[in-house]
Amino acid sequence: MRAHFPKLHDGAPVTVHTAAGGAVYVSPQPEPEGAKVLFFTRLGGVSRPPFDALNVSVKVGDEPDAVAENISIIHEAVGGVPSAWVKQVAGDGVTRVSEGGFAGEADALVTSEEGLCLNVAVADCVPVALVGEGDVAMVHSGWRGTLSGISGKAAGRMPGARPRAYIGPCIRGCCYEVSEELARAFAAEFGEGVVSGRHLSLPEAIGGDLGRAGVEVVDLGLCTGCRPDLFFSHRKQKPVTGRSLAAVVKVGR
Ligand SMILES: [Zn+2]
Repeated sequence: MRAHFPKLHDGAPVTVHTAAGGAVYVSPQPEPEGAKVLFFTRLGGVSRPPFDALNVSVKVGDEPDAVAENISIIHEAVGGVPSAWVKQVAGDGVTRVSEGGFAGEADALVTSEEGLCLNVAVADCVPVALVGEGDVAMVHSGWRGTLSGISGKAAGRMPGARPRAYIGPCIRGCCYEVSEELARAFAAEFGEGVVSGRHLSLPEAIGGDLGRAGVEVVDLGLCTGCRPDLFFSHRKQKPVTGRSLAAVVKVGR
């Protein structure tokens, strides 16, 4: 089932899909060649408030059985392929994986394997999918990772022609006010265009980081803070909320 939501956002075109098991996800339109990119929303899972519904984290206090069911629903939505995940530590570590399972502490995964799903969990932090000639990557980029250029570092680990980046749902400048000190640090690193007063645009900063690496960026323009009906937002739904999964799978061309 596919539905178009032309007024969902002001970014690049997206399609909202509802998978057979009910999971609702957003993907770039057109879909990238050589990969499936799936930014899951909070819709289509079994968790109860405040984790409703497609929460993938047990660490936030949700029922483990509900989270397990949600992960099973997502597993079906990505076609039943094996998944690789990391313990996200808000650093700039990039790990290369070749099989499913836990891949240690890192905030970005890269693979050249077809049919292997790379995952990160987010609720405001920026999920960045990179699709290259032979590799795909999935990046978790919070403010720390963004400031240390994790997306550019991940792109640098992908041989061949420069990858294309897809920036998924995240908290955007409209909803993200930071300290003066942090705003200044970002302006110093990425230019004044990434801040407006104390409002920080992580997508703009990531665009700057990837631009230096020669990577073309497709920003889906979706704000987790503006759309609590669709996304978990750590900032806007305090004190507790869920985490959404962002996934990329390399597929045959
Ligand atoms: Zn917003």
